[in-house]
Amino acid sequence: MTLLKRIPKVDKVLEWPGVRELLARHPRPTVLAGVRDVLEALRAAVRAETLDEGELDEAAVTARIERELARLTAPSLRRVVNGTGVVIHTNLGRSPLAAQVRPHLDEIAFGYSNLEFDLEEGARGSRYAHVENLLRELTGAEAALVVNNNAAAVLLALSALATGKEVVVSRGELVEIGGSFRIPDVMRQGGAILREVGTTNRTHPRDYREAITSETGLLLKVHSSNFAVVGFTAEVSSQELVAIGRESGVPVMADAGSGSLLDLSRFGICGEPTVQEFVAAGVDIITFSGDKLLGGPQAGIIVGRAACVAPLRRHPLLRALRIDKLTLAALEATLRLYRDERLARAEIPTLRMLTASAAELRARGRTILRRLRRALPPQIRLALVDGISQVGGGAYPLLELPTTLVAVEAGGLSPQELEERLRRAPVPVVGRIHRGRFLLDCRTLLDADLPLLAESLREVADLNPVR
Ligand SMILES: *Cc1c(COP(=O)(O)O)cnc(C)c1O
Repeated sequence: MTLLKRIPKVDKVLEWPGVRELLARHPRPTVLAGVRDVLEALRAAVRAETLDEGELDEAAVTARIERELARLTAPSLRRVVNGTGVVIHTNLGRSPLAAQVRPHLDEIAFGYSNLEFDLEEGARGSRYAHVENLLRELTGAEAALVVNNNAAAVLLALSALATGKEVVVSRGELVEIGGSFRIPDVMRQGGAILREVGTTNRTHPRDYREAITSETGLLLKVHSSNFAVVGFTAEVSSQELVAIGRESGVPVMADAGSGSLLDLSRFGICGEPTVQEFVAAGVDIITFSGDKLLGGPQAGIIVGRAACVAPLRRHPLLRALRIDKLTLAALEATLRLYRDERLARAEIPTLRMLTASAAELRARGRTILRRLRRALPPQIRLALVDGISQVGGGAYPLLELPTTLVAVEAGGLSPQELEERLRRAPVPVVGRIHRGRFLLDCRTLLDADLPLLAESLREVADLNPVR
């Protein structure tokens, strides 16, 4: 118990030269909170009999206070290194933006803009106009509108087109996306009445035809997103659904989910229609996300026939769901890249990562290994292994993309300890454990991540082994 007596008092600690330096850099209450946290942790360690005497040295305690202050003053929303291999990782912020977006975002964020000001007319303009022509040009649709996210787009479309009316949906498409976005719930919120047709695995054109009455407001097709129905299955194509809708004058809507503007089939990513294909099929209103396969900021994009988009523009919900200027700037800059398909594929990180071949990733793995080894102490051992990565973001749930992984071993740490320490590092690194190894997928490691990754690995190796 004599060790408890050796723990210094707060006032004393505040006099230490190292801590006075911290006081010059941080507000006093923050330093005080940091000092108290550290002293409390030291007391707890003494009681648990896990404290080394050396940890009570002035230098050791000061270093610990400095680390605690770094933790206390770090922003909550932080950069993370995604080593999971899941390209569109919703928990990790989905799509990183293309570097080309930065200047436009900078310009709009830190100054005034013509957000809702028509510079030709000198009168009030529309914020939606900034991307409408681009979206029309890229998708072939007559009209376009953007909102906060795809969930908002679906809610707005249902509210504007189907309140008090029946919406016909296949039982195979009544999906839950996660984060409690369920098609039946959104429909209720939009004031529409769900009319389920078909079965989980098979829905036929006659199922839709038989469900259409004078009460029908919309035929809805929902992208199955995060699951796949395989085996004895049948679904009605967009073309067939449009034909059925035309027979009875009922508009057809598609929630395309990820909504790709590029055909990625030559990269082995196939089986999902592009937005252009929905438009060409004659679907009246199509909604999709901005931050999934498109690789832009969080946004909900709506394209379709002018007569069907017009009621959405007039609906009071639009004001509540409206897109913010930073998002709009990032979206416009991202969409511009799509004017040149090669540029989009090369410069939009989500597309670049998804279409990277096994050979490219193997080469990238070797480069990453070389760069990391140069920056790391020898107790961190690295090796390349083959593996599989996933698209994520509710797209291509069954697709397995061959990849190269970096297996990491650090001193005597178990994979679980390593995983936890990297996750809690100043720049958090998220990987996965497979068959007793901690792995980082080269597919989702960005170039700018490599110095950060090296720093976090070094930090982890420097810490004392856990007892
Ligand atoms: C992801 C997804 C949504 C929700 O999109 P957010 O942009 O996350 O709001 C809705 N529908 C489908 C089919 C999806 O895949």
